[in-house]
Amino acid sequence: MSRAPEKAPASAIAVYSGGMDSTVMLSSMLEDGIDVKGALSIDYGQKHRKEIDAAVEICAELGIEHSIADLRGISALFGHSGLTDSETEVPEGHYEEDSMKQTVVPNRNMILISVATAWAITKEAEAIAYAAHSGDHAIYPDCRVEFADALDEAIRLCDWSSVWLYRPFVNMSKQLIVTEGARMGSPLGKTWSCYKGGALHCGKCGTCIERREAFHLAEVDDPTVYAADAASVDLLVELEWRLSD
Ligand SMILES: [Zn+2]
Repeated sequence: MSRAPEKAPASAIAVYSGGMDSTVMLSSMLEDGIDVKGALSIDYGQKHRKEIDAAVEICAELGIEHSIADLRGISALFGHSGLTDSETEVPEGHYEEDSMKQTVVPNRNMILISVATAWAITKEAEAIAYAAHSGDHAIYPDCRVEFADALDEAIRLCDWSSVWLYRPFVNMSKQLIVTEGARMGSPLGKTWSCYKGGALHCGKCGTCIERREAFHLAEVDDPTVYAADAASVDLLVELEWRLSD
């Protein structure tokens, strides 16, 4: 099974959310002998810091330098978004539903990759590693392969050092990412996906549903502790992962 569709860089800065995809990417980079010069998370005014707390803990465990770019000062410019606007409710249900479109932070991925590029140039890293996967581009325009291709071209041109965009998971499904993560012993149980601000994963929002579906399809035991009122996997299967209430 081919995991890396393109040549791996010698060194890279990882765009790192503390979620499953980018955590498995960090494990695979270490397995491939890539010099991970740093992992970058962005604080863009999320309602909660669970994801960033997970990123800090996992990077400490993996021995990777972690930095947080504090962009809370510009979050007021992001307008209505379920992730940053405290008056907008985080929708429940499957990602592919229209309601999920409101979770978008406008141009989020260009912001992430742009800041990471500046850090990569400073750290003299060859590439930016970015955990986009094949299921990512259904509704978010900035998750499309065409957009990432354009960003790759732009960051190669932005400096004399020609940083490029490494996308090892671009042809992989979330299911395969879970399979690979389990094989490598990646700390999947410490990753955070939920968009809601609870103490536990809610089990009902788009990212929770996607996470649970990926573990189910990969036939890997899901180590995540979900909130008591989360629907059972059996019910989710019966509803074809289209939870709505
Ligand atoms: Zn959730």
